[in-house]
Amino acid sequence: MRRFTLIFTVLVALAALASGAQSARKLRVVTTIPDLKSLTEAVGGDLVDVDSLTRGTQNFHEAEVRPSMMLKLRRADVLVENGLDLDAWVDVAVNGANNPNVVRGAAGRVDISRGVPILEVPTTRVDRSMGDVHPLGNPHFSLDPGLAPIITQNIADGLARVAPENRGDFAHNREAFLGRLNQEMARWQTMMEPVRGAKVVVYHPDFIYFLTRFGLIQVAMKEERVKMILVEPWNDVKLANRVAEDAGARAFVMATAVGAVKGADNYIAAIDFNIRTLSEGLK
Ligand SMILES: [Zn+2]
Repeated sequence: MRRFTLIFTVLVALAALASGAQSARKLRVVTTIPDLKSLTEAVGGDLVDVDSLTRGTQNFHEAEVRPSMMLKLRRADVLVENGLDLDAWVDVAVNGANNPNVVRGAAGRVDISRGVPILEVPTTRVDRSMGDVHPLGNPHFSLDPGLAPIITQNIADGLARVAPENRGDFAHNREAFLGRLNQEMARWQTMMEPVRGAKVVVYHPDFIYFLTRFGLIQVAMKEERVKMILVEPWNDVKLANRVAEDAGARAFVMATAVGAVKGADNYIAAIDFNIRTLSEGLK
């Protein structure tokens, strides 16, 4: 009986050790925007614990650095950032966090814009004093599903730098996710086929990668006849509707990010929302 008790005690202790090791291996990842949280969860699976510094309803250009951001960054093993000046504010938060894991140049710092073919790179010098511009080119590429292979590769590489023993798991999760995304992509292409070549107006150029991917054309309001004006969740939608009506068009709120609108609570759902909005609005 005593021997049985002893064995039982040893087994319980081993189980506790194993689960402790398991939770110790979970990487703490912080992302600047929620699109990257969703993609990092897809690649990291149950090996990661991911938190975003912003919400999808926010204008990322204008995110304010808060003490809560620094607290999240202080405990992070990995920081995944968009790059191209969209989330340059994160450097201020990283300075305040005092965590060598995520400073620029550290193994745990992941820039997902690496290798992305950038659109709308300015040919003349521009800076933020000239308004809400994109001095390094358009940074809103995260919700273009055609770029997900590059973005998730950057994420998988970054996670594997910090946890090389899980490289195979990250690669496997990524392949599985891209397989799912490819199936959706075929469906999305079919849905968008009838509206190819349609012209849309955008309030802020959030969608150039997405529109280009699906054969739509971004134009200026006054130049062309358009059916749709795309607006962000933080825009004045009533005002946008009045402007649209004057032009014989309609305004539509888009999922500018994961979590920007109801139902767009993960990467594929956010893209699906935009495909449905465009394919129905342009009919
Ligand atoms: Zn922008």
